[in-house]
Amino acid sequence: MASSILSDCSSSATARLLPFHRKLHAQDFRFHRSVSIPLRPPSPTSSRSAASRFWSLSAVTPVAMTTDTSAKLIDGKMVAKQIKDEIAGEIAKMKDAIGIVPGLAVILVGARKDSQTYVRNKKKACEAVGIKSYEVHLPEDSTEEEVLKHISGFNDDPSVHGILVQLPLPRHMNEQSILNAVSIEKDVDGFHPLNIGRLAMQGREPLFVPCTPKGCMELLHRYAVDIKGKRAVVVGRSNIVGMPAALLLQKANATISIVHSYTKNPEEITRQADIVIAAVGVANLVRGSWIKPGAVVIDVGINPIDDAESPRGYRLVGDVCYEEVSKIASAITPVPGGVGPMTIAMLLSNTLDSAKRIHNFK
Ligand code: NAP
Repeated sequence: MASSILSDCSSSATARLLPFHRKLHAQDFRFHRSVSIPLRPPSPTSSRSAASRFWSLSAVTPVAMTTDTSAKLIDGKMVAKQIKDEIAGEIAKMKDAIGIVPGLAVILVGARKDSQTYVRNKKKACEAVGIKSYEVHLPEDSTEEEVLKHISGFNDDPSVHGILVQLPLPRHMNEQSILNAVSIEKDVDGFHPLNIGRLAMQGREPLFVPCTPKGCMELLHRYAVDIKGKRAVVVGRSNIVGMPAALLLQKANATISIVHSYTKNPEEITRQADIVIAAVGVANLVRGSWIKPGAVVIDVGINPIDDAESPRGYRLVGDVCYEEVSKIASAITPVPGGVGPMTIAMLLSNTLDSAKRIHNFK
């Protein structure tokens, strides 16, 4: 079944990228496979918070950095399901104990189909675990003041524990001032500069970590990948993925390099890495020759490329050439079914953590 996710990277690297908004989430797409690493069931008796368990529970077969020729699959879909089950259990307990459920407010401006799909998926995911979702849908020509008014209302609403402004916003709006208006206590996306600043500082902790990089780290932890003292390379330095992923790896005591569009000889740098996180938005950029044998590879990219054989006319590939890299790495995430499902699971986790913190529920 592995062949269903293989691609000819030499041709798909040059394939026409579809005019699609790139911030697709892999959980929007069904994906099945037969090879996976079994998860141990979560401990039902643990009294620690969901968040702390997420960081410490190594629920899977450890991934040793070997030189085997066939990589293990890091199954984000399965891990995300396990996390969502854990979150649902925690929310049920919270409701029983204090009569409160977490609330997530989503503000959507405009009529982008992809944004509408994400918001719908987030709403469905909230309902599935018992988070109450609130949605404001504003027309494309709304003013920044209207968006700020809704943010302010949600900041003051005690039943809302997380606020998410769906990006991208229409061009006439100032994304920075809108994101800055979200209360740091409810910034479940983790994009507020104070949260990012705390993430970057020694001895400080952010209230929230951005969901996609948090999901990458969670996969590494759950697959028991050794990070301390290892060399890690993050390809991409965006505010929402690459930069916070590098900060998180550094916090976990890896030695970090960041590759970006001005980096000379990126493959020489990635070839030194025990762990590679690719978040670029370029289909199949990271080839087999970029990877050290036995490295662990996390592919964040979601790139739609033409595929006449697919009913939709396109298929999704990552930033990593799976076909080549899976023969060299010791473990790798697929696309779809890797990081994508983890992003939404981390959003739910952040919302639960926020509700617990606000209501002082241990
Ligand atoms: P972004 O904001 O466009 O950032 C891309 C980064 O990649 C930039 O730092 C850019 O460098 C770097 N880059 C571009 N071309 C490069 C090249 N040829 N060599 C080396 N570096 C290069 O993208 P993003 O928001 O981080 O997203 C990256 C990918 O992840 C996209 O495919 C996106 O769809 C996907 N994504 C997935 C999820 C998920 O849930 N799985 C969530 C978010 C994003 P410069 O800074 O020098 O321009």
